[in-house]
Amino acid sequence: MKSLDALEKIAKQLDPNREERRHIRTLIIQHTEKFLEKLPNGKAYSNPDKSNTLWDEDFLEEGSDPSQVVRLTSHQIDHDGINAASGFDMAYVPGGGVYTSALADYWSDITNLYSGVFFANPGAVRLENQVISWLSSLVSYPKTACGNLTSGGSIANLTAIITAREVTQLKAKDHVNCVIYLGKQTHHCVTKALKMAGLGEVILRYIELDSGYRMIPAQLEKQIKQDQLNGCIPWMIVASAGTTDTGAVDPLEAIGSIALKNKIWYHVDAAYGGFFLLTSTGKKLLKGIEAADSIVLDPHKSLFLPYGSGVILIKNGADMKKTFSDTAAYFQDFEINDMNVSPADLSIELTRPFRGLRMWLPLKIHGIAPFRAALNEKLILSKYFYEQILACGFQSSGPPQLTITTFWYPMDGGENNDFNKELIQNIQQEGQIFLSSTMIENRFVIRLCVLVFRTHKREIDIAIKNIVQHKDQLLETWQ
Ligand SMILES: *Cc1c(COP(=O)(O)O)cnc(C)c1O
Repeated sequence: MKSLDALEKIAKQLDPNREERRHIRTLIIQHTEKFLEKLPNGKAYSNPDKSNTLWDEDFLEEGSDPSQVVRLTSHQIDHDGINAASGFDMAYVPGGGVYTSALADYWSDITNLYSGVFFANPGAVRLENQVISWLSSLVSYPKTACGNLTSGGSIANLTAIITAREVTQLKAKDHVNCVIYLGKQTHHCVTKALKMAGLGEVILRYIELDSGYRMIPAQLEKQIKQDQLNGCIPWMIVASAGTTDTGAVDPLEAIGSIALKNKIWYHVDAAYGGFFLLTSTGKKLLKGIEAADSIVLDPHKSLFLPYGSGVILIKNGADMKKTFSDTAAYFQDFEINDMNVSPADLSIELTRPFRGLRMWLPLKIHGIAPFRAALNEKLILSKYFYEQILACGFQSSGPPQLTITTFWYPMDGGENNDFNKELIQNIQQEGQIFLSSTMIENRFVIRLCVLVFRTHKREIDIAIKNIVQHKDQLLETWQ
C-alpha cells in the first residue's frame, strides 16, 4: 500500500491534463496541417533516406519531450516511400483518406467506444448497422442481408470464404474435389484466404478471359459441366468488379445466372470498383451484382476513406450469424436484444475499433453528392488520360472500364518490356507522380489508377507531361 502513491503518480502520466493535451494536440495538428498544405506541390514518392539512423533508438523508461518525439517521428514516417494522401499517387488502388474520417477516428478513439456488442454501446452498434444497411441497399441486397465492417478487403474476402465453407458444410474429405472458379486477375488475397480458411487443397480453375480481361461466361459454364461429369464439386465462383491489374469488371449478371442454375456460391470481389455503384456508369457496369451470395467492398479505396475500412456483405444474413455467432459464460449480460445484431456475431473479431463512425461522419457532414461527383470525375479523367496518352504515341490494351489505364510505349525489335520497365523506374525515382506496373500476357505495362479524391484535371495534366518528358529523355539515351 505504501508504494501506491508513488505508482499512481507515475501512472497518471498516461492521463495528461488539459494543458498537456492541448500541447501534444497542437503539435500534431501543426504537423498534419503542414503536411496537407504541401500536398498540391509535393512529391508522390520519395526514395528511402538510407542515412536515417533514428530507428536504432529503443524505448526508454523515461518519456521524452513531445515536440521532439513528433518532430523525429514525422521525419521517420512521412518522408520515405509513397505519399498515399497525394493527388499524384496513381499507383495500385489508392483512395487518399478524407479528413473528416480521420477526425471520426480521433473521436471514437478518445471515447474508446466498444462497438463489438450491442449491450456495450447500443448507439455505436446501431450506427454501424445503419452504415451496413446503406451499403446493402447500394448493392441492391434485401433487408435480410447482413454485413460487417472489417479492416480491409483481405479480411472481408476471408470472411466470405469462411461463411461459404460453413453454410455449405464442406467436409475436409471433400476439399480435394472441390472446385473454385476465378480469373487470372483475381486478387491474390482470395487464394491466400482459401489457405487461411483451411481450403488450401481445393482445385482452382482459372477461366479464360476475353480481350477486356473479363471472365467468359460460356467458358465458365463449359468448365462447370466438365467438372460435374468428372465427379468434382463446383463450389464457388469468384467474380471481380474491378480487377486490380486492369480494372476489368466481369459480366456479373451472366455469371450470376450460371451460379444460380448450378447452385454454386457466388462471390463478388468489388473491393476496387464497388462504390462506383454511386454513379450511373458504375451501375450499368456492375449490373447483376445483387445475384452474389457475398460481396466485398473497400471504402478505403473507392470511398476515399483512410486505410482500415473494408466491408463484407452476405445476402442471406442468417448464414453469417450462424457462422460467426458464438457465446461465452461471461457474455450472459449481453444477450438482451436480438433485434440489433452485434458486429461480434458477424465477425472473426470480438473487440475492434469503432469502424462505423469513420464512414458515417463524412457521409453525414459532406452528404453523398461529393462522393458521387468525385467518382464521376475520376471516370471522366480516366477516359481523358487514355485519349491523351494514346495521342502522345503510347499504346494501351483498351479504354479504361473504371479508372485504371494500362499503357506502354511501343519499341521496335522486342525491346518493349525493357524500355517500359526503365521508363517506370525513372518516373518512380523522380517521384513527382507515382505509378505502378504489372504484367499482362507477358507484356510489361505501366498502370495509372485515378482514385485519390485529390486527383483532378490539374494532376492528370501534370502526370501526362511527366510521363512524356521521361519517355523523351529515355528515347534520347536508348540504344
Ligand atoms: C485491394 C484489393 C483487395 C485487398 O484489399 P485490402 O483492403 O488491401 O486488404 C482485394 N481485392 C481487390 C480487387 C482489391 O483491389
